[in-house]
Amino acid sequence: MSKYIFITGGVVSSLGKGIASASIGKLMESRGLKVTLIKCDPYINVDPGTMNPFQHGEVYVTDDGAETDLDLGHYERFTNAKLGKENNITTGKIYYSVITKERKGDYLGKTVQIIPHITDEIKEGIKKAASKNQVDVVIVEIGGTVGDIESLPFLEAIRQLKLEVGLSYALNIHVTLVPFIKSAGELKTKPTQHSVGTLREIGIIPDILLCRCEKNIPKEAREKIALFCNMDSEAVIPALDVKTIYEVPLMLKNEGLDSLILRKLNMKSVDLDLKNWKDFVVARIKNPSRVSKIAVVGKYIDLQDAYKSIYEALIHAGIANDARVDITRVDSEDIEACGPEKYLKSVQGILVPGGFGYRGIEGKIKAAEFARENKIPYLGICLGMQVAVIEFARNICGFKKANSTEFDKKTPYPVISLLEEQKGIKNMGATMRLGLYPCTLKKGSRAFASYGRANINERHRHRYELNNKYRQALEQKGLLVAGVYPEKDLVEIIEHKDHPWFIGCQFHPEFKSKPDKAHPIFREFIKQSSFLKKR
Ligand code: GLN
Repeated sequence: MSKYIFITGGVVSSLGKGIASASIGKLMESRGLKVTLIKCDPYINVDPGTMNPFQHGEVYVTDDGAETDLDLGHYERFTNAKLGKENNITTGKIYYSVITKERKGDYLGKTVQIIPHITDEIKEGIKKAASKNQVDVVIVEIGGTVGDIESLPFLEAIRQLKLEVGLSYALNIHVTLVPFIKSAGELKTKPTQHSVGTLREIGIIPDILLCRCEKNIPKEAREKIALFCNMDSEAVIPALDVKTIYEVPLMLKNEGLDSLILRKLNMKSVDLDLKNWKDFVVARIKNPSRVSKIAVVGKYIDLQDAYKSIYEALIHAGIANDARVDITRVDSEDIEACGPEKYLKSVQGILVPGGFGYRGIEGKIKAAEFARENKIPYLGICLGMQVAVIEFARNICGFKKANSTEFDKKTPYPVISLLEEQKGIKNMGATMRLGLYPCTLKKGSRAFASYGRANINERHRHRYELNNKYRQALEQKGLLVAGVYPEKDLVEIIEHKDHPWFIGCQFHPEFKSKPDKAHPIFREFIKQSSFLKKR
């Protein structure tokens, strides 16, 4: 039977619970155990797919096409867990399911209530994800901060679940903040005491505290926290700030967290080390030999989380090339206002990520043009491929006002358009082309050279496609169709023949990149970029 680790957060949000959960997953794997991770999100949206990046940050897509919270990205990057739709449970999903059952008559005669119906549904969801994956350890992260109204049903569900599976089969880890007050020169333990107090009021007693802190927490402070929170001082683990998120598992291992968890869960395990992670991933991030200056041209540039997986995939590609990727975030609307030269002339590579809606599009098209004309390595992802096609159609094929029908319904040259099957769709939720699709690569293309094989599978999240009516015209002028989805003959990758390295892909390679295994397309992009002389 699987053992459970429930992770909650207290005091403030943004404590890095997702990274902590992913790191604990990594630590458990380093002890030879198989893990899965589940994120519970207390919002009422069924999934984050319909949310604006300003609200939610990136929407992470799994192999099975689920649109999920970005923490699942951390989980997949840190561990070998294969995640899918059951690994992200939202309040919306739970209520949707309960209300559907109620309408069907499944609860006939009963009053449907938060306890037990909503909490039972949450427990079922967690158990389903656990049993599907047949793992040793299930890590369940509860989103939000303890004390929020929204997360109460989730906390009640994990309280009950611990009793159901047996106390020795489950562990509660609470992530809190121990702030350092400069004027007093002191670490403050009170917020942690209050947060643990709030948890205890609802019947959850943490077994381990992970205390985020900018300074080392001295023994006396740990003992004080332990005393007031009613736990052993060895279970009060400092989680200090580190240079890169990939150092967190090493830092927590140093504090003995893996051994403590295993002891408390009464589990036997081997002790594999994290040598490769330490010597390759972390060491290379900290001491790279060269620099690669990459511009990411998007419209959610000010948001740390909007292009999370892209930024991480660039870091991974840097690791593979022993380079630090120096990311310049360029707002595509600034390019519209001032032209590309100012922002792009000194970079070694240009990346245009995915996106939706017309705002900022013309700036992205200009960025693709600038990369093509100045022979700067270019990686266009999803919308970034579509703008490269629009640019090529307008400037090389002479299709004036070519566009995607997403932005201009009446364009005379709809080089990017909807498939027939997308046209009748009215609902916005989970109706895009989502998840893994096969793609066959053309021999001799740069894409083929990057992957080193012809058949690949990549994750998608889009509605619009390259319009096959224009394919021949585009190809005649030198656009290379380097990859297609054979079943429907859809263009998945385009390249420019007469360019050192210019790739646009309709899928999202960033979702499959890992720190110790950079995605081939990102790896080659940075390879090309970091070897270029500085302009
Ligand atoms: N808006 C475009 C589409 O729906 C691109 C989507 C994306 O970049 N993820 O096809």
